[in-house]
Amino acid sequence: MSRKKVKQTTQTEILYKSRRRCPICYGLNGDTDIKKGQIAHLDQDSSNNDFDNLAFLCFDHHDEFDGKTSQSKSLQKDEVKKYRDDLYQIFEELGTENLPDLEVFEENTNNVERDKLEFDVYQEKIKIYREIRKFLGLIIRDADIEIKDMIEFANKTDEAVFLFDKDISKLIAEIYHQASQLRYTNKRLNSRYLDVGRERTRIAEENMELLNWFSKTTKELKSHFYPYLSL
Ligand SMILES: [Zn+2]
Repeated sequence: MSRKKVKQTTQTEILYKSRRRCPICYGLNGDTDIKKGQIAHLDQDSSNNDFDNLAFLCFDHHDEFDGKTSQSKSLQKDEVKKYRDDLYQIFEELGTENLPDLEVFEENTNNVERDKLEFDVYQEKIKIYREIRKFLGLIIRDADIEIKDMIEFANKTDEAVFLFDKDISKLIAEIYHQASQLRYTNKRLNSRYLDVGRERTRIAEENMELLNWFSKTTKELKSHFYPYLSL
């Protein structure tokens, strides 16, 4: 199979839609940082330049995916496509500004911004507390979470950085991260490629730990908010 160059317009479209975020970094680690990387052919066929067969991957994952080393052998192209499509959808609906990201929270958290707020801060704080509780409730109910609910959660809790100290922003980012991990483990467990064996057991255990984490976090949620919300 002969290599055909990916058309410039297609390359631009992929770089734009992915905002240079790597779907594997995102899918496995909830990592939405900008990466140096290149466009990969997901079916390993370099003549197949279908848009659906292409994804921007960071250099590390590009090498791993191409080289079929141990980690990515268990990572199927359909899974990478799912993470890629999730990312595309996130950026289309959310843009890049609202991604929960610890570094951004650290830069933005300062008293000046908080002091400038003139509206009823308490009501806004309560709203965010309720959004978090609602999101955790969905996860506890379904033992899973849909991408649209993750997007809504990110949107609705976006202003937390102005309303609370860093601890709450960190908690929100952690919840978001754990939720994407939960989605990933559920997808792996439901994948027809994942046979019964050690890898499946490991993922099932990770899945259980995540659900325990969500249950614990739900119980402790009020105590995180007491300092801000008790009258
Ligand atoms: Zn990556």
